[in-house]
Amino acid sequence: MSSVFARKALLQKGWADNVRLNIRDGRIEGIDTDAKPEATDVVTGCVIPGLCNAHSHAFQRALAGHTERRSPDGHDNFWSWRERMYDLAGAMDARTLRAVARQAYTEMLVSGYTTVAEFHYLHRESGNDNTDEAMFDAICDAAEESGIRLMYVPVLYERAGFDKPDPEEQQRLFALDLRSFLQHHARAREKCGERIGVGIGAHSLRAVSHESMTEIARAGAEAGGPIHIHVAEQQREVDQCLAANGRRPVRWLLENFDIGSQWCLVHATHMDADEVRTLAQSGAVVCLCPSTEANLGDGFFPLHDFLSHGGRIAIGSDSHISINPFEELRWLEYGQRLVKQSRNIASLRNSHVGRELFERTLEGGAQASGQTPVGLCIGAAADLVALYDEDPMLVGHDDETRLDALVFSGFRLPIERVMVHGEWRVIDGDHIDQMAARDGFAASLERLGGSA
Ligand SMILES: [Zn+2]
Repeated sequence: MSSVFARKALLQKGWADNVRLNIRDGRIEGIDTDAKPEATDVVTGCVIPGLCNAHSHAFQRALAGHTERRSPDGHDNFWSWRERMYDLAGAMDARTLRAVARQAYTEMLVSGYTTVAEFHYLHRESGNDNTDEAMFDAICDAAEESGIRLMYVPVLYERAGFDKPDPEEQQRLFALDLRSFLQHHARAREKCGERIGVGIGAHSLRAVSHESMTEIARAGAEAGGPIHIHVAEQQREVDQCLAANGRRPVRWLLENFDIGSQWCLVHATHMDADEVRTLAQSGAVVCLCPSTEANLGDGFFPLHDFLSHGGRIAIGSDSHISINPFEELRWLEYGQRLVKQSRNIASLRNSHVGRELFERTLEGGAQASGQTPVGLCIGAAADLVALYDEDPMLVGHDDETRLDALVFSGFRLPIERVMVHGEWRVIDGDHIDQMAARDGFAASLERLGGSA
């Protein structure tokens, strides 16, 4: 057993002073408040629960910052970015994926994420038809090397569009037939353990047929883990879904599937008022990725309406243009302020926006990654973030405003330590193996050359 003494800790019931967390076998076994530190304790400032990065394509970390130059024709959008992403995917072998994912996961830990839901559709290496296990192993190895908790979400990608039943050439590295995919899902489940969970997913309505979606939903219901899907990220997808199915994407999902708390809909950017209300009331979680959605020019999520109807949210760093959960929350709120010419939008339960956003995404992230119980309580996973309480960002703040400072101040994060499953992965602000991750990443980028 080990113990952590925190001068402040955000427990399930709220902030408490002088807290000793007793940890055994990766879980919180006991919590004492108004305690004194003992000689063997790790003594720290403010402890908060780690967050889940509920939507990641780890391989895209190699593309961050490489797609920010206007093309000669001037028509840069999601679809032109996707061509660059396909070039990268086409050059990604298992060894490179492992190194790039390790770097991404290391950065996640340093910024306060302790779990990642990896939405994985890059099932094959270029030039090698039968490598779904190698790419899966690469993700698992990267998670283990970095120490992050993994919710592996294998994702089916089988066609190029609503009226294109086959994948395009560049999409062949993603494509599996339904039978192979379900076999892969079953094999992945055998690898489940304390630090690796397995969900299931469909890439999007355009990339998966209704029949295959039905089988995925059935397999997901049987397995009991989360079911993830990209939906309504782009207006073009809404238009194509309307043309093919006579329904908008979110409406079509709600009418054809039993959408509830097992489901995580990623983006759901383009919804009408009726879709917003029905999805919010379904119990599903929507994973928002503000930095990626802004970077790709996706559009604008109706946050206030969704929350006011009881909607649940998680956050993800998706393409990894930036990896920082507090920046995601900041831009989630700031986008709304800019559009509405108003302030403090995501403040429905509590008068403090930073705290409310943190708590909502803690709950939603746990739902999207199938974890219970949520937050720092007895029986929960020992996944903690310790903050320097003497950092200028936090001094002068009290229990009411501390998380507001963390979300909105936007300076270097005052993270001292990060623990996952009872083990410290970040100490004195640095990941314990960051140099190894960095070297492997640099070598990978060299191998990728012009593809990144
Ligand atoms: Zn995505």
